[in-house]
Amino acid sequence: MGKFELRNQIMKKGSKLYSIFKRKCPHCHEGDFFEGNWLKANIKEKCDHCGEKFSKEPGFYQGSYYVVYALGVAVFVSLWVATRVLFPLAEMMTYVWVILAGLFILAPLMYPLSKIIWANFFFNYKKEKLDPKHEDA
Ligand SMILES: [Zn+2]
Repeated sequence: MGKFELRNQIMKKGSKLYSIFKRKCPHCHEGDFFEGNWLKANIKEKCDHCGEKFSKEPGFYQGSYYVVYALGVAVFVSLWVATRVLFPLAEMMTYVWVILAGLFILAPLMYPLSKIIWANFFFNYKKEKLDPKHEDA
C-alpha cells in the first residue's frame, strides 16, 4: 500500500481521523462540529445533518482536558526531539524556549482539537441516521 493510498484510507469518511481533521460530526461525518473557525472552539449544540446532540451530559467536555494534556506532552516530546536533531549543541535554555513557544503557539489549536478527539471516543460513525429517534450504541 503506497503512502498516498494509506492517507486516503485514513482520511475517508467513516474514519475517526476524518471527523477530527475535517471538524465534522463524529456520528454522521456530514454536519459541522464547531461554529466558526479553529480558533473558536464553540461546539454546536447538535448536528445540523443528523441531529445528534454533541454533549452527552453536562460537563461532558471537561474530560477533554485529559486530551489537551496528552497533546501537550506529545508536542513537548516532538519539540524536544526536533531541537535535539536540528541543534545538537543547543543549551538547556534553548529547549525551554522552543518548547514554551511551541506550546504557546499551538495551545489555541489544541483546545478545539482535544474536544473533537474526546467526542470521537464516545460517538461512533453511522453512515446514515436521519431518524432522530435513534438507538444509542
Ligand atoms: Zn451528524
